[in-house]
Amino acid sequence: MIVAMQRLQAFRYELRPDGQQERQMRRLAGACRFVYNRALALQKERLEAGEKKLGYAGLCQLLTEWRHSPETTWLAAAPVHPLQQSLKDLERAYANFFAKRAGFPRFKKKGWHDSFRYPDPKQIKLAQVNSRLFLPKLGWVRYRNSRDVLGAVKNVTVSCLCGKWYVSIQTVREVAPPRLTGGAVGVDMGIARFATLSDGTFYAPLNSFRRHECALRKAQQALSRKVKFSRNWKKAKARVQKIHARIANARRDFLHKVSTAISQNHAMVCIEDLRVRRMSRSAAGTADAPGRNVRAKSGLNKSILDQGWFEFRRQLTYKLAWRGGWLVVVPPQNTSRTCPRCGHVSADNRPTQARFRCVACGGEENADLVGAINILSRGIQMWRDEGRDTINALIGMPAGNRLCVSPDGLWIEPPRRSEAGTRRSVSGAAQCRA
Ligand SMILES: [Zn+2]
Repeated sequence: MIVAMQRLQAFRYELRPDGQQERQMRRLAGACRFVYNRALALQKERLEAGEKKLGYAGLCQLLTEWRHSPETTWLAAAPVHPLQQSLKDLERAYANFFAKRAGFPRFKKKGWHDSFRYPDPKQIKLAQVNSRLFLPKLGWVRYRNSRDVLGAVKNVTVSCLCGKWYVSIQTVREVAPPRLTGGAVGVDMGIARFATLSDGTFYAPLNSFRRHECALRKAQQALSRKVKFSRNWKKAKARVQKIHARIANARRDFLHKVSTAISQNHAMVCIEDLRVRRMSRSAAGTADAPGRNVRAKSGLNKSILDQGWFEFRRQLTYKLAWRGGWLVVVPPQNTSRTCPRCGHVSADNRPTQARFRCVACGGEENADLVGAINILSRGIQMWRDEGRDTINALIGMPAGNRLCVSPDGLWIEPPRRSEAGTRRSVSGAAQCRA
C-alpha cells in the first residue's frame, strides 16, 4: 500500500510591480503595520492597567471600528484579510512571549520587515504561464518566474527587503513517500571549513559578509556623511541596502546548495548541538566580569553569524524530513579532543587548530575530520542506547569508512589519507553522489 504524504512548501520570487502597484504595496504594508502597532499599544495599556489581554476576536471587532472611524478612514481602503492577519501575527508574538520562546512583542518600524499576507486562496490567482499573480487590491502583478510552483496555493505573503519586493507562495501537495538513499554521516561545522563530512569531503566557507564587508563599510561611511533624508542620502542608502541584499542572497544560495547536497546523499546526518545563540552572544562580558579573548571571539562570532549555522541546521532538518531521513543532534563535549582510534581524550590531542595527533596512540588526522567521525559514532551510539535500528542508516555508508565494534565501544574507521580531503566547490555541491 502506498501512502501519500502531504508536503507544505513555500516558493519565493521577486515581484516586478509597476509604479502604482509598488505605491499600493507600500500603503498596504503601512496599514498592516499601523494595525499591529495600535493593537500592541492597546494590549500594553491593558496589561499595565491589570486587565486581561484582548483575544483575536475582540481585536477583529476593534479593527472593524477603526475602519469605520472618521480619523482612520484610509484603513478601509486596504483589504481586510491582510489587516486581520497582522492581528494574528500579534497573537502569535504574544503566545511566543508567554511560552518563553521570544521577547516581548515590539512595535514595528517603517522599512523594517515590511510585509502583509493574504490568507484566502480563493482570492489569489496564479498564472504561471505568463508569470503573473493576481492579488486583491493590487491586480495582476508580474514576478520573476524562476521555477514552477508545485501544489495548491494556501496563502501568499508579500514582503519588502532592501527596497525589493518579494512574494512567498505557500503550497500544499501530496507526494509519494520518500525512498531512503545513502548512509550515515557526521558533519563537523567549522570556521576554516564550513562543513567537514566524516567521509572526508568538505565544503569551503563562503564568508559572503567578509567579502563584501569592505564595500559595505565604504558605502556606510558615505551614507553617514550625507544630510539625512536629502536626495544624495537616499541614493547612498539604496547603495547600502543593495550590498546587504547581495550578501543575504549569496548566503542563502550557498546554504541551500550545501544542505541539499548533504540531505540528498544521506539517510542519517549527525551534527553537534552547537548553541549558536549562546556562542554568538557578545564575548565582551560585563564590567564586573569582562570576557576573555574578546577580539578572537568576536571574530569567531562574526564568522558563525556570517555563515548562518542556525539557518543551515533548520534547512537540514526539513530537507531530511522530506526525504524520510533523520537529523541526529549529539552533545558537543570533547568531539574535537577524542581519538576515534583508541578513545583517548585529551586537550593535547590538538597541537594546532587544524591538526589532530593522539598522544596515546599517535594516530594523526585532520582535526575537522576527526570531529566529524566522533560526531557520527556518537550519533550511532545514541541511537543504539535508545534501542533504535541503525542498520538502515548504515547500509550504503560511503566506501572508506568502516564501522568497528571493539570492547571500548563503537567507532568508525576513518578513510585512508589519500581518500580524504576531497574538496567540494559550491557549484559541485549540488551534484548527486551516486
Ligand atoms: Zn589514539
